[in-house]
Amino acid sequence: MNSQKSESNPLDKLDQWEDFVETATYPEPESRKKENYRNYDDPARDCVREFYRLNHKHQSFDFVMKKREEFLGEKRERKEMTTIQALELLNTLVDDSDPDIDLPQIQHLLQTSESIRSRGCEDWFVLVGLIHDLGKLLCIYGEPQWAVVGDTFPVGCQYSDKIVYPEFFELNQDFNDARYNTRQGIYEEGCGLRNVYMSWGHDEYMYHLVKNYLPDPALYMIRYHSFYAWHREGAYEHLLDDHDRKMLPWVKRFNPFDLYTKCPEAPVWSELKPFYEELIAKYLPPTLKW
Ligand code: FE
Ligand code: FE
Repeated sequence: MNSQKSESNPLDKLDQWEDFVETATYPEPESRKKENYRNYDDPARDCVREFYRLNHKHQSFDFVMKKREEFLGEKRERKEMTTIQALELLNTLVDDSDPDIDLPQIQHLLQTSESIRSRGCEDWFVLVGLIHDLGKLLCIYGEPQWAVVGDTFPVGCQYSDKIVYPEFFELNQDFNDARYNTRQGIYEEGCGLRNVYMSWGHDEYMYHLVKNYLPDPALYMIRYHSFYAWHREGAYEHLLDDHDRKMLPWVKRFNPFDLYTKCPEAPVWSELKPFYEELIAKYLPPTLKW
């Protein structure tokens, strides 16, 4: 996916981060063994490591506030698009390093949604599969990779050592800031994730686009799908409220569809498009303001 490799964009493509999550940090239980992700002899792994270094260094409380103002604030001029247009646009952000995979972004979304559908799940759950990564369109606004993808985590309180490469948080300006570096930081015990500021990326951005239209479990899946320290590692218990605990099984239910779905036969977008147009129309307005 676009994101020409450079010093501030170390990944060859955005999906390299997801490949890392799927193979090295959270492999499919039983089918693959967890490898040591600190494999320093692997040049591909070096890119991912550098990506995390930048992510952990720059995702500070002030950075998140700045991005929220920039992308969620009233002053921003927004591009109005249908969900289908957004989906097809996301696909144009693809780099050409992957000639065998046709429409890789649409394929990931469709494979996720189709495998949810094949299990007979709720229709809004299927819709989550289709749209959960559309926030990656942040790339078209020139955002660096580390501000679009990567594990997400709360800012404004101590960074958990359950996050991959926690040592890089020492480079973060908040690491030695007494307002933000205690267990509770700016938050109250049990305040609920809704009151917690998450690091900035495609999850949070997409959540704000659809927050008025989907049921709560769907919104949790979208907003917290990259919050691995919570849904896979059980960290940040002290910030949760009962509602978060009630929603956690939904986030966990979504994760295997996101990580491990590889259909033997690629779904054909042109054939499935009418079905999804109808599903989108059931829940979302004709256009969203991106
Ligand atoms: Fe994602
Ligand atoms: Fe995804």
